[in-house]
Amino acid sequence: ASEEYENLRRRVFSNSKELWYFINHELTKLKGEDGQSEKIQAILDQVADRKRSLLSDQQKLTEIDGYHEWRKTEASNLSDLTQRRLRALQNPPDCRDARKVICNLNKGCGFGCQLHHIVYCLIFAYATERTLILNSKGWRYNNKGWEYVFHPISDSCTTAYDDKVVQWPASYDAKVVSLPFIDSITQKPKFLPLAVPSDLAHRIVRFNGDPSSWWVGQMLKYILKPRAAMQKAINDTIAKMNFKTPIVGVHIRRTDKVGTEAAFHHIDEYMLHVKDYYATLELTHYVDKRRVYLATDDANVLEDARKKYPDYEFLGDPSIAKTAATHRRYTPLSLTGLLVDLHMLAMCDYLVCTFSSQVGRVAYEMMQTNRVDASDSFYSLDDIYYFGGQNAHDRRAVMPHSAAGSQELSFQVGDLIGVAGNHWNGFGRGTNKRTNLNGLIPWYKTADHLVLYPFPEYKHVPQ
Ligand code: GDP
Repeated sequence: ASEEYENLRRRVFSNSKELWYFINHELTKLKGEDGQSEKIQAILDQVADRKRSLLSDQQKLTEIDGYHEWRKTEASNLSDLTQRRLRALQNPPDCRDARKVICNLNKGCGFGCQLHHIVYCLIFAYATERTLILNSKGWRYNNKGWEYVFHPISDSCTTAYDDKVVQWPASYDAKVVSLPFIDSITQKPKFLPLAVPSDLAHRIVRFNGDPSSWWVGQMLKYILKPRAAMQKAINDTIAKMNFKTPIVGVHIRRTDKVGTEAAFHHIDEYMLHVKDYYATLELTHYVDKRRVYLATDDANVLEDARKKYPDYEFLGDPSIAKTAATHRRYTPLSLTGLLVDLHMLAMCDYLVCTFSSQVGRVAYEMMQTNRVDASDSFYSLDDIYYFGGQNAHDRRAVMPHSAAGSQELSFQVGDLIGVAGNHWNGFGRGTNKRTNLNGLIPWYKTADHLVLYPFPEYKHVPQ
């Protein structure tokens, strides 16, 4: 399938959703003001039915357009190629000789955040053709180091010997470079997310609707390989659960996040999207049971959900949530539970979460490695997808817009608009880079602007 065809297909899908967000928002607003709230609700229900039918048909397009098998093969080939390149990078023929980058795993944050820290380091390594050395002694999740829980990120090259270490920003000639946290990096390289390698990008877009998270997912795939003991602990917990498809993953992040980095969201807000997913699926499939895998750091949510939604089957381990809810969150004890949750969320057919949480984003990134394209299989209650510390995320205007009112932003075809987020009501917020003005943008008049970067092409690695 051509890139143009894939982009158009995804655009129709995305804009069908945008049309629904807009109508839903406007009519719901009217319902509050108007005396005819019952009538308006009836219209909303009817439009929702039509929307589900429309989206369901569109999803079928990918299965019958003749490229289904091709996409599967291509996705798996490209993932294998990326993993081969990373293995080659991490196992240079002569370690002593190799250029290196040092990544210190001493960031005082949760596991999702630490994973993203390593991802950033690995992308840096890949972009500069330096072998990544992970310093993890004294790591908060295992004092002895990363290698005691996961397979090391290199089999053959794990030290910079006593070569001189230069802090980034460093010149190209420096043999060993040490990286700061991405939040405080100066001279931020253009190859950091959401950029994707130009030699792969045109292949990725032909099977995946969100190449940036696919690329991050590939880094996670390389990094996240539990050792036998950890893998057994994960498998044992999972074996106790009755995991069956169809199933929707729900991640509810509460405790210390609420009020500081994210808003509180009631279980009903998540379940609305779970219901919608099943109502759509039931148009074409028989569903024996509406299953939900619930991952959370709030010890009470699972019980609440079971009480409130007796027609649903909730999978999840209350003891995992309990551990996560306490201060033990940042200890080895919590790690197994979190890995179980991440693994399960990533295996679900659909994910409802908040992308303000790194756990929610990691689950989605892992989902992107588990299948050909997960870019239409999630709903985030708050943020659009991002990578903490990323370079600007722009959308390009594909239709002109002249602002209706002082809240809206005007733009011309071709304008780049730095986006802050989607409000899920038909509009998002952004800054027009040509006019420097900020305002609301009708999302459907813009398209995601994918940044390509000329990463090294690893020609010595078999294609
Ligand atoms: P963020 O704070 O949500 O952006 O993500 P971090 O991973 O940086 O830190 C949150 C920490 O809370 C995680 O590392 C977990 O220890 C814990 N946590 C959050 N959500 C869950 C969950 O659904 N399951 C489990 N087991 N732990 C969670």
